[in-house]
Amino acid sequence: MWPKDYHEEITQIAGNNVGLPEYAVDYLVYGNRGTDSGSTGPLTATGRPYHFNNNPPGQTDSRKELADYYFERAVNVWSTNEAQAWRYLGVGLHAIQDYHAHGQIDAGPRNILGTGMGVGHAPHSILVFIFEVITAPRTFANISVPNPMPDPDSSNFTWDGDSRTRLIRYFGGFDTNPRVLDSITDSEVYLWRFMEAVGLEPTCSFTNP
Ligand SMILES: [Zn+2]
Repeated sequence: MWPKDYHEEITQIAGNNVGLPEYAVDYLVYGNRGTDSGSTGPLTATGRPYHFNNNPPGQTDSRKELADYYFERAVNVWSTNEAQAWRYLGVGLHAIQDYHAHGQIDAGPRNILGTGMGVGHAPHSILVFIFEVITAPRTFANISVPNPMPDPDSSNFTWDGDSRTRLIRYFGGFDTNPRVLDSITDSEVYLWRFMEAVGLEPTCSFTNP
């Protein structure tokens, strides 16, 4: 749920960076854009897991699950319907990009009063935020206060708990927002993995992970 042109631009950059032809990138963008409407739309019960993490803390993020699911579908359909394969991958990319767009926002209690809507941050993210507010002086006093909560900005942080970058910290534009950059990188890795799986030769702008 980046702005639609963010999704499009991130997808185009990633597709270009791994060396996909123009028509393939167009299919990716088409599948990606379609994720925001119909049964996969963010405001429907069936579509929520594509945009927000619908799984409880400790379980694999629903967006990562869906990205893997569409990856498999794309691999399976590749030899008979290439266009469909790219469209499936576009859906998978949307989920991956929304991981960074939303982090764990709106992954808390869901379906309030039967509306299908959730409320704000997941408990985990709220605790990180509150603890940081309480212990903020440690930054100025140069005192090391042990933080019991994992740091989403740490490179050791896993995908299972939260976005790698705190949502509250950045409000920059496309080029300066680290979450956009993470989104591009993970989109490239996703496409690169697919190209490997079907025997295409990726042109990588990043190091083999
Ligand atoms: Zn979305």
